[in-house]
Amino acid sequence: MGAITDLGFTPAVGDTDLTAQQRSFLSLAHELGKTRFAPRAAQWDETASFPFPNYDDLRDAGLLALCVPRDHGGGGADYATYMMVAAEIGRFCGVTALTWNMHICSTMWTGVLADGIPMTDAERAEHARRRELHFRRVVQDGAIYAQPFSEGSAAAAGRAPFGTTARKVDGGWVVNGRKIFASLSGAADYYGILCTEDRPDHKPDPRDTLYLSVPATSEGFAISGEWNPLGMRGTVSRNLTFSEVFVPDDEQLMPRGVYYKGAQTWPAMFFTLAPTYLGIANAAYDFTVQYLRGEVPGEPPVKRRMYPTKQVAVAQMRIQLEQLKSIFLRAIREARPNPTRDERLRLYAAQYTVMEGANDLARLALRTCGGQSMMKHLPLERLYRDSRCGSLMLPWTAELVLDRMGREALYEPGEKDEA
Ligand SMILES: Cc1cc2nc3c(=O)[nH]c(=O)nc-3n(C[C@H](O)[C@H](O)[C@H](O)COP(=O)(O)OP(=O)(O)OC[C@H]3O[C@@H](n4cnc5c(N)ncnc54)[C@H](O)[C@@H]3O)c2cc1C
Repeated sequence: MGAITDLGFTPAVGDTDLTAQQRSFLSLAHELGKTRFAPRAAQWDETASFPFPNYDDLRDAGLLALCVPRDHGGGGADYATYMMVAAEIGRFCGVTALTWNMHICSTMWTGVLADGIPMTDAERAEHARRRELHFRRVVQDGAIYAQPFSEGSAAAAGRAPFGTTARKVDGGWVVNGRKIFASLSGAADYYGILCTEDRPDHKPDPRDTLYLSVPATSEGFAISGEWNPLGMRGTVSRNLTFSEVFVPDDEQLMPRGVYYKGAQTWPAMFFTLAPTYLGIANAAYDFTVQYLRGEVPGEPPVKRRMYPTKQVAVAQMRIQLEQLKSIFLRAIREARPNPTRDERLRLYAAQYTVMEGANDLARLALRTCGGQSMMKHLPLERLYRDSRCGSLMLPWTAELVLDRMGREALYEPGEKDEA
């Protein structure tokens, strides 16, 4: 472990002890973010287009393979390291961090997370064989994976089986269905979908969820729909349809039934959207300090820091930012399979705090910097819009987190009220 002094900047997760590997990946992300991603961020927002050049940079820097295990040629980053690096990228470009999360999860869930999910020996052997193919695509070909789960039903919230189905046939699966909000649509080489195994004489059941990768070139696969949203515009999250799409057996990203076990075992797998928004919260705070000091490049050097109301507002923002960082750091450091009840409740609290807090900080930043700061040539109004999107994302929307926390705090597992 080492301190951050040799980094030359304070990471978005805060000034905490870091391993040599964490310091090295954070430096890389900070440099790329500052010199490449931040200057380009406005264009993806303005045109609602995907940040392809950023992905070329991520690929060249080895960051597409960050969470591929070392013995498969990747960066070998663990969960906490990924979460720190993602926050650093989010600080400079929210859409790059958010879409990179979808890609990274395809390697992290099949990698370090899968290692902590119970499997039979046969399942473990099957998984080891199949994931090699996916890791190789990412490491050698620089392939991009998307993670389209949402369908507009209760499935992505974990409350119903996915309506997209996969029917077993010789040598593979036949997929039918529709996904909405598929970030990286048109940019990904593979779409890692969740769907329900279509079993004759069985009712659809979430325990039969399959995690399959659909190559973008598959026959019967199509992208459709408009994409003109409030924020996170560069994610290009359009609709996908699958009509009798055949995918070979080796496209299975996890053995049958293992995704469902993973979702029960590793709740922190759903916390991976949060670092993007911690990054945005940092960006809103950093901008406000720079603006009030009259140091924003290209702007008149007008200082506004001497007004007591500005000082109070910045103090409030800093207090909130410290709260976000503290709970985020604790949550990523204690993330593991089968957390205790306290750890699980804290994880929900961390998700809520970051997602709602990021938007609150952006709101306060705009109010504090004032009218001139909301102009489109400055990043604050984009940060404000992007920050609103975190709480909308399933399965842990702000509402669903409150719902889960309240219920799990008041009921022991299996406990019910008398009718
Ligand atoms: C920028 C952006 C990028 C995205 N990228 C992806 C992606 O790459 N892959 C992907 O799979 N999804 C993605 N999503 C989709 C996201 O995860 C949600 O599925 C989507 O925002 C849900 O919107 P909805 O209106 O359809 O939700 P609905 O299901 O209509 O729910 C509306 C709200 O009701 C509440 N709610 C839902 N179910 C319940 C329930 N059972 N009990 C109580 N309250 C409930 C929730 O708070 C929810 O926000 C993205 C979303 C955004 C905003």
